Amino acid sequence: MPNPPDQLLWIDNTAVDSHRQQRFETRNPATGALLARVAEADAGDVDAAVRSARAAQVDWAARSGVERGRILAAAAAAVRAHRDELARLECLDGGKPIAETPEADVDSAADCLEYFAGQAASLQGEYQTVDGGFFYTRPEPLGVCGGIGAWNYPLQIAAWKTAPALAAGNAMVFKPAELTPLSALRFAEILAEAGLPPGLFNVVQGAAETGQALTRHADIDKISLTGEVGTGKAVMRDAADTLKAVTMELGGKSPLIVFDDASLDDAVSGALLGNFYTQGEICTNGTRVYVHEAVIDDFIERVVARTRQLRIGDPADPDTDIGALISPAHRDHVLDFIHRGEAQGARRLIGGEAVTVEGCPDGAFVSPAVFRVDDDDCVIAREEIFGPVMTILPFRDETEVIRRANDTPYGLAGGVFTTDLQRAHRVAAAVKAGVIWINHYNLTPIEMPFGGMRQSGIGRENSRHALEHYSQLKSVFVATTGVDAPY
Ligand code: NDP
Repeated sequence: MPNPPDQLLWIDNTAVDSHRQQRFETRNPATGALLARVAEADAGDVDAAVRSARAAQVDWAARSGVERGRILAAAAAAVRAHRDELARLECLDGGKPIAETPEADVDSAADCLEYFAGQAASLQGEYQTVDGGFFYTRPEPLGVCGGIGAWNYPLQIAAWKTAPALAAGNAMVFKPAELTPLSALRFAEILAEAGLPPGLFNVVQGAAETGQALTRHADIDKISLTGEVGTGKAVMRDAADTLKAVTMELGGKSPLIVFDDASLDDAVSGALLGNFYTQGEICTNGTRVYVHEAVIDDFIERVVARTRQLRIGDPADPDTDIGALISPAHRDHVLDFIHRGEAQGARRLIGGEAVTVEGCPDGAFVSPAVFRVDDDDCVIAREEIFGPVMTILPFRDETEVIRRANDTPYGLAGGVFTTDLQRAHRVAAAVKAGVIWINHYNLTPIEMPFGGMRQSGIGRENSRHALEHYSQLKSVFVATTGVDAPY
């Protein structure tokens, strides 16, 4: 088989090699096949990207919101026009089922561009008369923003950071995860085709050091990271030296609470969606499923029966429900959690084994696992695994389950299944998390703010609130009287 072409960096709407011409490989996690050798950016390349972004941002910010929005709308249409191609790329590079990627990845990115295309012209200030005159405020862009992405939703993450940044008049330098570098480059080409001027979306590839070069760069005004809590802390420390603004979209161990009056079929569907979609590699997953003791046996029976029906397979097969984990190392990490959990008393009800898939002998597959856990301190009930591992824990009453749900340093998301209207809203208010779903799980419409509380994050993505994290207010005081100086 011929070698695939090398993938380069993207600076000034041009594919450029890195100064040192170093390469890293990206492979299909389902087959181990080499997908590309990718140019690795060092601090010098990051600097070139930042200089290009800085130069482009001035003119971009001077354009009207309507004009910026028009280009974002064209970009949304262009992403939709490339739906199949982008969906295939996310499937190949990330091991995600092709049954998911057109909607969950590509449509999500296009929706985001479309939404912020509309919002770009909505940025407005305020006006108030005060003693001696009046003032008005001007929402102004931050300048050059750095985006650092995780590997689970590469295109979506790139869009969720870039669309609001551009709408507000900023430029973006984006570093995708080293494991999934491909879609950001294609996204960059598509944005350029749609008319985005050079320099406004630059892509620097590489691992943590490249991310660090972004975070430490003195001429970057803001960093938006999607990644683990530990990475968030390291990035905040690095950002502190230049007092950069930060948005942090970090990990979680979210509770999903099922009361005894819930529609069990819906609750089971929610738990399956909230644990096994994208092989469980989703930050908001409801991996601690608290089920009322009156219905736990019934719930378990239904969850296990429906988990048994899930098809593990080649992600490129449209019938596949569970694709490959991102890498063999991550598979081993997930299996290690499972073994440690069992050693601490977790009862395995189904799954949790390395699986070999026909045609994908080197793939990192793990069968979806369901555990019953009676001790909240069990490692698989406390720590983020980021794989297809559901823990089911019994509870007796509302006060107790809320206390247990909140007994975690995380606060990303949560869910409650109940038909009691008052209880649903009481629980939604009491669970400390940035997003709560009542009688559903993991829906993230672009119109709804998204982000975590506590150690799960800082700031919000999506919705018009995202614009607040990509702009800053300037107050302008205007005197309507003379200056009455006391000296
Ligand atoms: P990591 O934290 O390992 O990496 C995230 C990104 O940060 C990668 O691009 C990584 O580079 C980069 N990076 C790592 N160290 C540094 C550093 N010191 N300075 C700057 N950049 C750095 O996360 P994963 O990619 O493994 O993604 C999984 C995690 O992401 C989970 O915890 C998950 O919950 C979280 N996540 C959160 C979401 C949210 O919206 N709240 C959504 C999706 C995922 P590289 O990997 O190339 O080395």
